Amino acid sequence: MEELKMYNSLSRQKEIFKPITPGYVGMYVCGPTVYSNVHLGNCRTFISFDIIYRYLKYLGYKVRYVRNITDAGHLEGDRDEGDDKFSKKARLEQLEPMEIVQKYTLGFHKVMELFNTLPPTIEPTATGHISEQIEMIKHILANGYAYEVNGTVYFDVEKYNQEKPYGILTNRKLEDLLEGTRELGGQDEKRGRLDFALWIKAKPEHLMQWPSPWGMGFPGWHIECSAMSCKYLGKQFDIHGGGMDLAATHHTNEIAQSEACYHEKPVNYWIHTNMLTVNGARMSKTAGNGFLPHQLFTGGHPLLDKAYSPMTVRFFMLQTHYRSTLDFSNEALQAAEKGLKRLWDAYEILENLPAGNEIKEAMDPELDKRCIDLLDEFDASMNDDFNTARVLAAMFELVPVINSLKSGQIALNSLSTGTLEQLRKKFSIYLTDVFGLKNDKEADSGRLEGVLQLLIQIRKEARAKKDFATSDKIRNELQQQGIVLKDEKDGSVSWSAV
Ligand code: AMP
Ligand code: ZN
Repeated sequence: MEELKMYNSLSRQKEIFKPITPGYVGMYVCGPTVYSNVHLGNCRTFISFDIIYRYLKYLGYKVRYVRNITDAGHLEGDRDEGDDKFSKKARLEQLEPMEIVQKYTLGFHKVMELFNTLPPTIEPTATGHISEQIEMIKHILANGYAYEVNGTVYFDVEKYNQEKPYGILTNRKLEDLLEGTRELGGQDEKRGRLDFALWIKAKPEHLMQWPSPWGMGFPGWHIECSAMSCKYLGKQFDIHGGGMDLAATHHTNEIAQSEACYHEKPVNYWIHTNMLTVNGARMSKTAGNGFLPHQLFTGGHPLLDKAYSPMTVRFFMLQTHYRSTLDFSNEALQAAEKGLKRLWDAYEILENLPAGNEIKEAMDPELDKRCIDLLDEFDASMNDDFNTARVLAAMFELVPVINSLKSGQIALNSLSTGTLEQLRKKFSIYLTDVFGLKNDKEADSGRLEGVLQLLIQIRKEARAKKDFATSDKIRNELQQQGIVLKDEKDGSVSWSAV
């Protein structure tokens, strides 16, 4: 088996993946900030990591997959100022901050389920780990990399940078980073322009605050991920991921915090997903160009000309490599819908191929070899930094062969039984297990069954009330649609399609 290579943002190259403990992978992905609905851009990142998680499992690794919920500590301003987003939303919606958290966490889970992403093995929350964050801040202070001013604790970036390169993740020198930031004003408590808050003093009216050695307050955003990843994966773990927009600040600060606390490099492989864009601009909560997943599923967005199923949207994302930008468009979604249908049709053909006599030697060895080569490309492409786009290209090259097997243009014995079996197996494993796709046709038939059972129930109730006009109407109209109801002796009703 070829080795798995992944692009590491830290070294800026593809590296062969070697987990710290053979056979086990620890992976941490920054989760959503749950003060509003996730948009499709957020979903792209979580779906990309779902594929990575699924593929690691497919390779046989036992994966501890931690994805947090940020439910505290996000301020509106980018310089540790302003209201926190949860309190603001809570006031706006006249709810408790924790009701906001609950509402949007449930919504997030629902969306993730619709996209058929696997749940992480641990989903810790920032508010559930306040004491771990406080402990870590105490350590950083004791090690001399932080300072307290009036109940707020800041990380001392310049001090840290004297020993370790602060901008290592994005390959930038401190001088360059400083150039891009505003001068400190007279009001500022910070010593350095790049310093960031580890703990923030709460104003009395602040809705979410906790006691700490520095008084009542709440944690800064970055410390939660350092504290929770360390708690569940150790001081050093294999993979840390998130969207590319997190690298320059959030992840840069995470590295600095962990190193300042434990003097160890926290993460071996940093994986960053590229952005989903709309007309070339990054989809974001603040820019207001975010599509909500349900707007796609119902077609309820001015830029959409119809509804698309969650699986079409998931497939649309898989057609582009996770490190490339992906621009959202109607045309691309339409093409994805058609492409996905072609793949499921091919899958069904393979599932229903008649079992013939065992063919050891293919009658068309050239074609047989071509099929095997294309099948080998599935794993080879995934081993090359999870290149889902290339797997799909190989799948689409196989589709005409599969279609011709059905039409008889290619005789079944052109391929060996072993090759046919591999085709069937690989299509099935890749579509369902690795890519996490579900057949919409099957989902549709499940829905149809539900609707039929509802009609059967209404008919039963009508008959019980001697409302034969309604019960006959249901029976006759269904018959016109080719569905025949049959009243069984035991009082139940069965149906068949004619
Ligand atoms: P947030 O809830 O804003 O903290 O974001 C959750 C995740 O979505 C983070 O990993 C972000 O990097 C990622 N993200 C935000 N916007 C986009 C986008 N337009 N495309 C892809 N990922 C995004
Ligand atoms: Zn994080």
